[in-house]
Amino acid sequence: MAKPAAPHPLRPATQLVRSGQMRTNLDETSEALFLTSGFVYDSALQAEQTFTGEAEHFQYSRFGNPTVQMLEARLAMLEGAEACRATGTGMAAVSSAMLSHLKAGDRVVASRALFGSCHWIVSTLLPRYGIQTEFVDGGDLNQWEAAFRRPCQLVLLETPSNPMLELVDLKAVCDLAHKAGAIVVVDNVFATPLLQKPMKFGADVVVYSATKHFDGQGRVMGGAVLGSRKWIEEVLQPFTRNTGTAISPFNAWVILKGLETLHLRVPAMSRSAAAIAQMLEERSEVVQVCYPYLASHPQYELAKKQMSGGGTLVSFSLKGKAEAFRFLDALRVIDISNNLGDAKSLITHPATTTHSKVGPEERARLGISDGAVRLSVGLEDVEDLVEDIAAALDAASGDNPAPVRPQHG
Ligand SMILES: *Cc1c(COP(=O)(O)O)cnc(C)c1O
Repeated sequence: MAKPAAPHPLRPATQLVRSGQMRTNLDETSEALFLTSGFVYDSALQAEQTFTGEAEHFQYSRFGNPTVQMLEARLAMLEGAEACRATGTGMAAVSSAMLSHLKAGDRVVASRALFGSCHWIVSTLLPRYGIQTEFVDGGDLNQWEAAFRRPCQLVLLETPSNPMLELVDLKAVCDLAHKAGAIVVVDNVFATPLLQKPMKFGADVVVYSATKHFDGQGRVMGGAVLGSRKWIEEVLQPFTRNTGTAISPFNAWVILKGLETLHLRVPAMSRSAAAIAQMLEERSEVVQVCYPYLASHPQYELAKKQMSGGGTLVSFSLKGKAEAFRFLDALRVIDISNNLGDAKSLITHPATTTHSKVGPEERARLGISDGAVRLSVGLEDVEDLVEDIAAALDAASGDNPAPVRPQHG
């Protein structure tokens, strides 16, 4: 039998463990994995009524699935959003949030510093469908203001941004965008819902790659779109159901269980990231350190205003590509990988990987130098990470090329 409802609101840690669970009549402790594509009906009438909407019943896992629904309910509760739809990847979340809302003739304004595939959607895909797009430097309110002199239907922004951790003033941009008639879609992957709640500052839609911190253990792909019930049901859902952005119930289940430890993992990873950022500032080989909660970050005040922690990523620059490559190759614990938000610390050289396709000019505008590296801080002992980084910096600054990476562990 269901317990009476808890006195609300539950705190985030409790929500992450308990919100959204639908127990079956078998009274299982853990959330059940409904690995089924379809559902059966008691009668032809029930089937008819399900399709007309008179009866509540699952139909088909492209439309909805109990495990996926548990994930959606948990994420909506955590975000403080009315509704959520989970998607197969983070990019399915971003693209469906945009494509479901837009039509030919519309105009989109986006911050320049976006995840690579988000940048491609704005710069290349949308214009093919007759949607005008414009990029602005996300940190420059004058550019946002100028862009909003013409009608605009949708704003896409990411804060902190990938990879240089620049911030966008959420409150200011949401206010300007709303006056121009646009909805604001925030890609909140880097901050996570624990460190930043964009809707509190006026965002209409928040999107996530669940592949990152939500799973947090580098196993499955997933995404999520959160917004008002009306927008999700009337605008997003017809698009996601009919184009087929559904997440696999198995992936949803893995992410649902991953969420149970999010409130332990993200603060721990952020604490280590802050310690590493501070340690990097002391090193003469490091030209620049970017971390929102470092007093030296040009938007430190804004970071304190709209985030409750600096996040799990640190970006920093060495002198050039050769130094960056020597440093990466000399690491013995941290892995070279373009993923992020994992329990394992991962490092990448954006200029030759995630941002190789944007070209040198755009990279320069984004502040991504050939010596820049992006570190996603994991759950290892921070002392091991600090020692690994320090030793690799020593090795990279020496004249000897780094030896071949051995197996570690
Ligand atoms: C990873 C990522 C995405 C895309 O998510 P996928 O799950 O890889 O499709 C979008 N935005 C940001 C900021 C990301 O880090």
